[in-house]
Amino acid sequence: MQTVAVIGAGQMGSGIAQTVAQHGMRVLLSDMDLAHATRGRAGIDKALGKLVGRGKLSIADAEATLGRIVAVADYEPMVEAELIIEAATEKEEIKRKIFEAAGKVLAQGSIMASNTSSIPITRMASSTPDPKRFIGLHFFNPVPVMGLIEVIPGLATSPETVARTKAFASALGKEVVEAQDEPGFVVNRILLPMINEAVFVLGQGTANIADIDKGCRIGLNHPMGPLELADFVGLDTCLDIVRVLYNTTGDSKYRPAPLLMKYVEAGWLGRKTGRGFYDYTGEIPVPTR
Ligand code: NAD
Repeated sequence: MQTVAVIGAGQMGSGIAQTVAQHGMRVLLSDMDLAHATRGRAGIDKALGKLVGRGKLSIADAEATLGRIVAVADYEPMVEAELIIEAATEKEEIKRKIFEAAGKVLAQGSIMASNTSSIPITRMASSTPDPKRFIGLHFFNPVPVMGLIEVIPGLATSPETVARTKAFASALGKEVVEAQDEPGFVVNRILLPMINEAVFVLGQGTANIADIDKGCRIGLNHPMGPLELADFVGLDTCLDIVRVLYNTTGDSKYRPAPLLMKYVEAGWLGRKTGRGFYDYTGEIPVPTR
């Protein structure tokens, strides 16, 4: 692929745009408006600068990567994209509106993909111009670092779309897992109930934040505890995913932990807002409970 469009320039969209551009492809990056898209591109510039600082990327490569990313105000230029990746907020109504609007410019033969963490692909396909060319393409955070992509075909997704999407994921140097279109796919179906349970454990006063994370880091040999990881993912995104699991299955085991809802209501969304289960405003993260 030569040109890829990314809709949503938050933590995932920016990471996807950076990774795609680092692999030599041109990226059209959009968000709600040009100011948000430009802010996303500036964040990528900063991330590339850090890689240069650590000696992991040359200045020339960083400049060339940034030069391949164009912030765009609307969907019109995406007519040139062979793949449009939607990475906007995890709300079905937002994503459907994007598919309808961007679908108008989707070129014949191009693929539209969603980076949704949990919303069924088959259900959202009805808002896209051609469900045969619609697929789930689930990256992990932070995208430039994490080595996995889940590929999720919907009921109508063609084998050709699956093959081309897998080839794209491999071209980014990622391992691919194909998952069926069930809520949460594979990884989040397992991860989010664990994070949600950790918040129940916290809310019930069984242990404090530091001990819950320490217990899982050492006792389960996980590189991060569930609450640290939740802050990394974004507590709003975690809550949205748990709600999708709960609403689509109707299974009470997925009911969101009340304390998770409280943190989201407070606007304490994790690293991206400077405070979640930890406070990130100082040198090192400090547990908030
Ligand atoms: P985020 O809050 O960092 O970014 C969301 C972006 O979408 C924001 O920049 C917002 O301005 C933009 N947006 C909102 N409405 C829009 C619209 N109508 N048009 C264009 N852009 C719009 O969230 P994120 O963590 O980047 O998550 C984005 C998607 O990626 C979600 O579907 C999420 O479930 C999925 N995802 C997240 C993670 C994670 O760890 N955070 C991992 C895998 C997948």
